[in-house]
Amino acid sequence: MTKKAVVVALGGNAILRHQEMGTAEEQFANVRRTSMNIVKIIREGYAVAVTHGNGPQVGDILLRNEMAKDTLPPMPLDICGAESQGMIGYMLQQSLNKALRSVGLDFPVVTVLTQTVVDADDPAFGNPTKPIGPFYTAMQARRLMDEKGWKMVHIRGRGYRRVVPSPRPIALVEGEAITRLVRDGMVVIAAGGGGIPVVAGPGGSLRGVEGVVDKDYTAALLARLIGADDLLILTDVEYVFLNYGCPGQQALREMTVAEAKQHLAATHFPPGSMGPKIEAAIRFLEDGGRRVVITSLDSAGDALAGRVGTWIHR
Ligand code: ADP
Ligand code: MG
Repeated sequence: MTKKAVVVALGGNAILRHQEMGTAEEQFANVRRTSMNIVKIIREGYAVAVTHGNGPQVGDILLRNEMAKDTLPPMPLDICGAESQGMIGYMLQQSLNKALRSVGLDFPVVTVLTQTVVDADDPAFGNPTKPIGPFYTAMQARRLMDEKGWKMVHIRGRGYRRVVPSPRPIALVEGEAITRLVRDGMVVIAAGGGGIPVVAGPGGSLRGVEGVVDKDYTAALLARLIGADDLLILTDVEYVFLNYGCPGQQALREMTVAEAKQHLAATHFPPGSMGPKIEAAIRFLEDGGRRVVITSLDSAGDALAGRVGTWIHR
């Protein structure tokens, strides 16, 4: 590829913010702002593949399924994941097209519904940890555990919630398609929500599984796959910090892989939030990536130019 390429991994706040209800208008408004930030990166001369989280959206889809279950058959998690990729892809495509045109650029924008291959023997399947969907009462939880074999956890003061396995991504089924589209100069939205987890069966068949792949790990895989130079992880903090939220909190301007590993071991980056981003960064760089930048959505342009954000390199 002649152009520099970057994978932009969007966090939850790029589509929905904490205090919001999740109306279509709210989500569109956020996605428009996100799109303006992505266009800044495209204007810096990068070929861009975008990936994103889907937690709140898939949560709402699951709740809708649950509430309508006496009228319509509920869909399994893999199909709900596909639905969320479609709705977010639609909002991003429309908004990115408009944002590009507003600065006189005219790249095709396309969403690729993406399946992520995971290992059927991944230890995560024996130890579901990722909470998803609505909260249930103790009675509902018992029924769902009996009827569907779901694993549930109790969260104090809120009720019971389903937990699913979070296996590591191995490959993207649509990887070749995504790579060609990026090489062809298209802005590609792919692997939303970490991709729909599937396991390989006999004769090249695939089967969707009940689980959630961490979007940060899939972003690292996607970045290596398309031969990206950079991985840009956009979240709701401008920097990665040491002693985050504690006395002595300190913003990191840059760190090496070795330093990232040290800080990770010293538990500066908790699982479920900053931990997966740092692990994804380490993985991408050890596999040959050039640099990773972690910063807030609105600092995207400035971060790639080196003005803000946490830079991680080999
Ligand atoms: P996303 O949707 O972008 O993946 P997450 O909530 O999973 O967002 O991760 C970002 C959050 O990680 C921040 O809002 C912050 O509260 C939290 N966080 C935990 N540890 C750190 C740290 N060491 N430095 C910065 N942020 C941290
Ligand atoms: Mg996250």
